[in-house]
Amino acid sequence: MLTGDQYLQSLRDGRQLYVNGHAVPDVTEEPLLRASALAAAEGYDRHYQPGEDASGPYFLIPTSVDELRQVQDMYLDWDFPTISTSNGLLMVLTAASRMRADFPQYAERALAYFEDAKRRDIRIVQTITDAKGNRSLSPSKQDDPDLYVRIVDRSADGVVIRGAKLHISSAAIAHELMVMPTKRMKPGEEDYSVAAAVPVNAPGVKIINASFAPRPDLDPDFYPYSSRHVMTEGFIVFDDVFVPNDRLFLAGEVEHSATFAHALGLWERLGSVGSYVRLADTLVGLAQLIAEANGLERIGHIKDKIAEMITYATLIRAGFEAAVQHSTFTPEGWASPDEMFTNAAKYHAAAEFSRMVRHLHDIAGGSVLTAPSLRDLRNPETGPYLEKYMRTMEGVDAEYRMRLFHTIRDFTADAFGGWKHVTVIQAGGGLYAQKVVVTNHYDMENAKALALETAGITPDGTVVSAAEVPSAELTDGYAPL
Ligand SMILES: Cc1cc2nc3c(=O)[nH]c(=O)nc-3n(C[C@H](O)[C@H](O)[C@H](O)COP(=O)(O)OP(=O)(O)OC[C@H]3O[C@@H](n4cnc5c(N)ncnc54)[C@H](O)[C@@H]3O)c2cc1C
Repeated sequence: MLTGDQYLQSLRDGRQLYVNGHAVPDVTEEPLLRASALAAAEGYDRHYQPGEDASGPYFLIPTSVDELRQVQDMYLDWDFPTISTSNGLLMVLTAASRMRADFPQYAERALAYFEDAKRRDIRIVQTITDAKGNRSLSPSKQDDPDLYVRIVDRSADGVVIRGAKLHISSAAIAHELMVMPTKRMKPGEEDYSVAAAVPVNAPGVKIINASFAPRPDLDPDFYPYSSRHVMTEGFIVFDDVFVPNDRLFLAGEVEHSATFAHALGLWERLGSVGSYVRLADTLVGLAQLIAEANGLERIGHIKDKIAEMITYATLIRAGFEAAVQHSTFTPEGWASPDEMFTNAAKYHAAAEFSRMVRHLHDIAGGSVLTAPSLRDLRNPETGPYLEKYMRTMEGVDAEYRMRLFHTIRDFTADAFGGWKHVTVIQAGGGLYAQKVVVTNHYDMENAKALALETAGITPDGTVVSAAEVPSAELTDGYAPL
């Protein structure tokens, strides 16, 4: 396994990075990106064990419901590249299992890749979202053929790929990019059906970075959350990148072009749902704390809003539990979360998030945006005024209440808050993507049968005279109190 220092050293590998208009010669020294690398290095140190055979828990393949839950619980304490490595490898194994019957060679390569990644203790990120050009046209119909990543050359040793993948979280601080098609490709789009593991420092890979991280010269106390939790997203260009055969998991087989996207959707969304349980609970906690600090916790409409936030959090938790509990198992014995519960919970968490933030802002008041900084509190000229007017009662002093306001602003209404708002909707695919999966897995026949029964129509479509339908007590599932 690698130590944190060895990991940081491994990032100095000639990778071509850019941010804010300049090249980044060393990601561990770049002020805007450095914090992400250091957080991942801490993760390496936390997991490090000596010995040739040691490996991190992020390489565990769950084979039971308990193990699946254990891995998901551990995600809550891991840095993003480590979560992404686990997610990504489980995705590759799920895809391999689904491809094994048709393309056993790809399944074997995927397994070999898993073992190799474990041996090298690398971090892998998921690289699926293409530039996509005109969204209403398929890849082969675009006016520029590179708007979806594609194979531009083939040889006996491998392929050359060209295109771009956007928004890739933690790409700049990972070792490898797991590239895969963003959607199902049609016959004739074989060159777009490509999945591969590409080193971040492969010749031709260039990553242009963006991050919500507060600028390094800003007061960390004013950003109590985002100064400690940072993320970088990469706009990745593949400028004719060679991929050797042993890193190719799909190279033209359109019938499996969507296999990777489906498998990633499942694992990525389950991980998101697990983290949204904590996110929702945190929103509830902030709402309750600021209500108490403002003396509002017994007011009816405040309690009602918090009750709605609690219900939101509880339903996400219920969806997560159901997804894990109803796991299915691949022929290899690997556990796989339930598709419908995973996607329904992800949809609910994402679709209702902004409403919950609205409740928090409504409860908290305008100081979410206007509370002066703790530096002003410490300034002898202004501090006494803030002490006097920002406190509310015995036990609620200015510093405590201001910290709550700064946290709510940072967490939900500033750069990180804006990032989170868009991320809950888009990461793992927009809302519609989850609705499609839920609809596909829903038991529609059962729903139709119940509706027919309610209408007094037999399964073959015969309308029964209402007078002939035997009346019954209203006991089937609902009894008014
Ligand atoms: C912070 C962040 C981190 C991310 N991290 C990653 C990552 O690590 N790896 C990765 O691969 N991706 C990542 N993503 C990308 C994410 O998966 C996409 O943003 C998402 O899938 C939507 O794609 P898009 O941004 O291109 O938007 P679009 O595809 O333009 O979608 C915008 C809207 O248009 C709709 N739409 C688009 N095309 C069609 C169509 N043909 N028919 C009907 N409706 C359509 C969508 O449903 C959506 O409602 C990340 C995104 C964010 C915001």
